[in-house]
Amino acid sequence: MHNDNQPLIFELSTEGRVGYSLSELDVPAVDLAAILPSEFIRTEEAELPEVSELDIMRHYTALSRRNHGVDSGFYPLGSCTMKYNPKINESVARFAGFANIHPLQDESTVQGALELMYDLQEHLIEITGMDEVTLQPAAGAHGEWTALMMIRAFHEANGDFQRTKVLVPDSAHGTNPASATVAGFDTVTVKSDENGLVDLEDLRRLVGDDTAALMLTNPNTLGLFEEHILDIAEIVHSVGGKVYYDGANLNAVMSKARPGDMGFDCVHLNLHKTFTGPHGGGGPGSGPVGVKADLIPYLPKPVLVKTEEGYHFDYDRPQSIGRVKPFYGNFGINVRAYTYIRSMGPDGLKAVTENAVINANYMMRRLEPYFDLPYNRHCKHEFVLSGSRQKKLGARTLDMAKRLLDFGYHPPTTYFPLNVEEGLMIEPTETESKETLDAFCDAMIQIAKEVEETPEVVQNAPHTTVIGRLDETRAARNPVLRYERETVEV
Ligand SMILES: *Cc1c(COP(=O)(O)O)cnc(C)c1O
Repeated sequence: MHNDNQPLIFELSTEGRVGYSLSELDVPAVDLAAILPSEFIRTEEAELPEVSELDIMRHYTALSRRNHGVDSGFYPLGSCTMKYNPKINESVARFAGFANIHPLQDESTVQGALELMYDLQEHLIEITGMDEVTLQPAAGAHGEWTALMMIRAFHEANGDFQRTKVLVPDSAHGTNPASATVAGFDTVTVKSDENGLVDLEDLRRLVGDDTAALMLTNPNTLGLFEEHILDIAEIVHSVGGKVYYDGANLNAVMSKARPGDMGFDCVHLNLHKTFTGPHGGGGPGSGPVGVKADLIPYLPKPVLVKTEEGYHFDYDRPQSIGRVKPFYGNFGINVRAYTYIRSMGPDGLKAVTENAVINANYMMRRLEPYFDLPYNRHCKHEFVLSGSRQKKLGARTLDMAKRLLDFGYHPPTTYFPLNVEEGLMIEPTETESKETLDAFCDAMIQIAKEVEETPEVVQNAPHTTVIGRLDETRAARNPVLRYERETVEV
């Protein structure tokens, strides 16, 4: 019997075993020498494993069970929104008319795909309160960079070449300062106040005629809504800067509040988070950017337009920052997001937000007696605990994260944001049931008790996984990702 924790055997080959059966060739054999240069023709057979179909099936199924995914267990990785990816999205993305088209096909033959993209843009315009949306950017960080390039083009068109600074609160997602730097700006950090929100006095002190923009992650990485958001937008606008809304985690506010109504000039969304695109394995994402009217001329081109003859790409955009992604963006993720929005409807999207926020607050209050909660306020879609109480007893947040593996959970995000010591950032998402949330809280509470009573159990975790604790630096720097048969030295 197979046990998921047994070492995998890779040497499965048995001479002469085959995994296929083909009928006799009943057409003339191809003369390879006539069609291929001789150096490309094999002289020896390839050394491939000789296995049956069943051997192969079990091998890959066993490998897949070594992976933790949303389909196999709870995945409360803060700021990553590892929510369920509805299977109807996959069916629709596989419709032949979406899956089998080619990006170089003539526009007249892909009108359905263009209509879907256009309608998705319209939905996102409605959801964000912006005036126009581009679907080109391939991920959240790419969207941030795209918007910053538009902001720069806007300032330069006004002769404002001295606007070289982008303000980023210290509670921002890490991609914000990175994108500002890649876009060629100097990043200036804005402090948080004792409530974990943007310090308005610090912001007032930092803005000036060198301010290009402020990038605001809202809710911030502590899961807190910026209460003074209108003041923040007003302060930056008063000196001629633009305000950018990092809307990667829109499930905290969607259908309740819109960045466009809060005075923001642009926003990016992560369709692979809030709008259920599968992610986490480095697969394709989609980070559309919405803009207000005065940034529209700078949108990446081509811009999808609707005319009486149908949909087509307009390349005649002289002020555009140019293309940021080939062809249609990550079309397959956009099909999934469109399917999700249409299957939820406006009331469904509102319920998503309510449940994401209720779930996070429920867990925060259940865990509050057992862990430190540095910013003790109502949270939005996520919250951040501190493991400093446990650290004093000898078990760090890293140890507790490893111990969670023994309970079958993916650990929360750890050691982020940086303004929380021994941080544990937990995002349950709206797709989980109360039973799942309770079971995870029970595991966390048990771990907190273990830290008091038997800390070595936590310090040496995990105990039940195939591989124990890795040297994380070596695993990241020198990953051995390929199985290699041992070679015998002679
Ligand atoms: C995930 C995330 C990003 C970055 O998105 P990517 O698609 O990973 O580039 C940016 N901001 C916030 C708040 C996020 O949660």
